Amino acid sequence: MPISVAIVGSGPAGFYTAEALVKTLDGDVAVDILERLPTPFGLIRAGVAPDHQTTKKVARSFEKTAHRPEVRYFGNVEVGRDVALAELQRTHDAVVLAVGAPFDRPLGIPGEDKVGVIGSAAFVGWYNAHPDFADLDPDLNTETVCVIGNGNVAIDVARVLVKTAAEMADSDIPEYAQRAIARAPIKDVYLFGRRGPIEAKFTNVELREMGRLDECAPVVDAAQLPDAVGEMSERDHRLKEKNLATLREFATQDAGERRKRVHFRFFVSPVEILGGQRVEGLRLEKTRLEGGRAVGVGETFEVACGLVIPAVGYRSVAVEGAPFDEANAIVRSEEGRVAPGLYAVGWIRRGPTGVIATNRPDGVAVAQCIRDDFGAGAKPGRVALERLLEERGVQVVGYADWKRIEQAEEAGAAAPAPRRKLFRIADMLNVARTGEARRSAD
Ligand SMILES: Cc1cc2nc3c(=O)[nH]c(=O)nc-3n(C[C@H](O)[C@H](O)[C@H](O)COP(=O)(O)OP(=O)(O)OC[C@H]3O[C@@H](n4cnc5c(N)ncnc54)[C@H](O)[C@@H]3O)c2cc1C
Repeated sequence: MPISVAIVGSGPAGFYTAEALVKTLDGDVAVDILERLPTPFGLIRAGVAPDHQTTKKVARSFEKTAHRPEVRYFGNVEVGRDVALAELQRTHDAVVLAVGAPFDRPLGIPGEDKVGVIGSAAFVGWYNAHPDFADLDPDLNTETVCVIGNGNVAIDVARVLVKTAAEMADSDIPEYAQRAIARAPIKDVYLFGRRGPIEAKFTNVELREMGRLDECAPVVDAAQLPDAVGEMSERDHRLKEKNLATLREFATQDAGERRKRVHFRFFVSPVEILGGQRVEGLRLEKTRLEGGRAVGVGETFEVACGLVIPAVGYRSVAVEGAPFDEANAIVRSEEGRVAPGLYAVGWIRRGPTGVIATNRPDGVAVAQCIRDDFGAGAKPGRVALERLLEERGVQVVGYADWKRIEQAEEAGAAAPAPRRKLFRIADMLNVARTGEARRSAD
C-alpha cells in the first residue's frame, strides 16, 4: 500500500515537498495537497508583486507535480475549518504542515492601531487580489506614505504605489487597486530602515528598478552611504557592493521631470504613529549601529503622512494540534519532524525568510524523513478524506477546476495583462462548478 501523505498548504513549500515525495518514494506514495483557497501556489500568487510576472512563472514547474498520478489537489479545503489536523492524522500516514506565515509582525509602538496603518501582509494581499483582503479599501488620499522596512517587500510596496497605470499594464494587479492607486495624490513615499545601506535586505535587481521608473525618482542622501562595505563573506561583499553602487548612483541622479519621489532613509527607527483616530504622521528616532544593532541616539523628528505601511516581517500562528514555539512564531520541529507522522516545511518551520527556492531543501529533507519513517502505508488516505469532505458538503476544487478558474482569468484580461484575477471565493467556486465566469464588480 502506498504511503499516504497530506500536505497542508499549496505554496512553494507544499509543492516542493510533493515534488520531492514523488521522486524519493518512486511512485510508492499518494500525496494530497490541501489548500484553504480555491487557487494554489500561496505567496507566488498573492505575495510576489503583480508587476513581477517572470518570478510568478515558477508556478509552472509545480504544474508538472500537480499532474502526476500520485498527486491530488484539494482546493477550498481549510484545515481547522473543513477538516481537523487530528482527523488528517487518522486518515493519512503522514501530515506535512506548509501553511506559511500569513500575518504581519507588529511594530510594537504606540499608535499602531490607528486608521491608516496597514501592514504589508494586508496591503500586498489587497493589490494582489487575495480574497481575504480584496475589501480592504485603503484610504490612499494622501501625498505622503511611510513604508517601514528595508527588504524587498518594502520596495515592492513602494514601487507599486508610484508606478503609472501604463507601467502596470502588463501586470495582474486587480482593477480596483490600480484605479485607487492611479487616483491617489501620492507624491512622496519614504522607505525607513533602522540600520544602514549595508544592512538593508534589498536585492540589487529590485533596488535598481527604482531608478528606472517613468514618474518617480529615488532620493538618497550621499552622506548616509559608507565609503566601503566592510568585512564579510566574498559573496555578501559582492552583493552589498552592488547595492552601494546603485545607491551612490541614486544620490547623484537628476529627478528631471519626474513628479514623485521614493526617499531612502537609513538609521531611523519609528517610535510613535501620530494623529487622532487616523494617522497624521510618524515620529522617528535617529539611530546608530552598536555591534550590528540599531540603537536610538535620542534625536527625533516627525514626518506628516496619511498612510503607514509596516513591512517588517511576517509571522505564523499556531496550528491546533501542533506544538508551537511562541517566541519564534514557528511550529516546533527537529529538522522538520514535529511529532511521529507530523512534519513541517517552509515558513511555518523556519520563519519568514528567504526566496521561493529556499523552501525546496525543506521539502527534500522531509520527503527523506517520511521515506525513513515508513516502510509502507497503513492508512486509507485519499478515500477517507474524500468521504469526510463529501459528508460535510465541502465543494472541493480539484486541479482541473483550478485550471478552469485560470482560463477564465486569462480570458477576462485585456492585453498585455496576463490575467484578470478573480478575487471572490464565490466567483471562483462558480467557475470551478460551471466553467462560466461571472465576476463581481471590481
Ligand atoms: C510580499 C512578498 C513578496 C515576495 N516576493 C518574492 C519574490 O519576488 N521572489 C521570491 O523568490 N520570493 C518572494 N517572496 C518569498 C516567498 O513568497 C516565500 O518564500 C514562500 O512563498 C514561502 O512559502 P510557504 O509555502 O512556506 O508559504 P506560502 O507561500 O504562504 O504558502 C502557504 C499556503 O498555505 C495555505 N494555508 C494556510 N493555512 C491553511 C490551512 N489551515 N489549510 C489549508 N491551507 C492553508 C495558504 O493559503 C497558502 O496558499 C515574497 C514574500 C512576500 C511575503
